[in-house]
Amino acid sequence: MHKQCQCGEPMGLELRKVIYASKVEILHVPVFSCPSCFSSEVLQHVTKDIKELLQSLGSKPAPRRISFARNHELAEIIRKLILEEADNPHVDWQSALEERMELRINLLLDLYRYARSLGDEEWMSDVEKRLLQLSGFTSKSVLTNTKN
Ligand SMILES: [Zn+2]
Repeated sequence: MHKQCQCGEPMGLELRKVIYASKVEILHVPVFSCPSCFSSEVLQHVTKDIKELLQSLGSKPAPRRISFARNHELAEIIRKLILEEADNPHVDWQSALEERMELRINLLLDLYRYARSLGDEEWMSDVEKRLLQLSGFTSKSVLTNTKN
C-alpha cells in the first residue's frame, strides 16, 4: 500500500524535523523514507504549505520551534495515526487514514456552519483554510505520494 521506492523497497511514512536557516526547527513534517537505500521525499500534499510557512518566517528568523502538524490538518491526522497505530501490525493504513480524514472534514463542516451562524467571518475563513488542507485528494494518493 505504501509508496514504493525506486530501489523496489516499500517506503515508510514518518514525521521528521526540518531545520530552517539553522535556527528554526519545524517538527512533524510528513516524509516518506526508504529503510534500504535511505532516499526520502516530503509528502507532496503538504509541500506548498511548508513553503508558505518558511516564507512567512522571512530570511532572518528568530530561533524557535514550530509544529507543522499544529498548522496543517493532514499533517496532524498523520501525526496521530502514526502515534496510535505504529505498533499495530494489522492496521489498514488506507482505511484508517480515510476514516480519520472523513471524521475531521465532517467536524470542520459543522464548525463552519456554526461560525457562519454567528457571522464570525474570521473563524469561517480559518475553517475554510483547514478544509482545503484536507480536500481534493484521496487517502490512497497520500500513501502513494501521488497527486490524486
Ligand atoms: Zn530505496
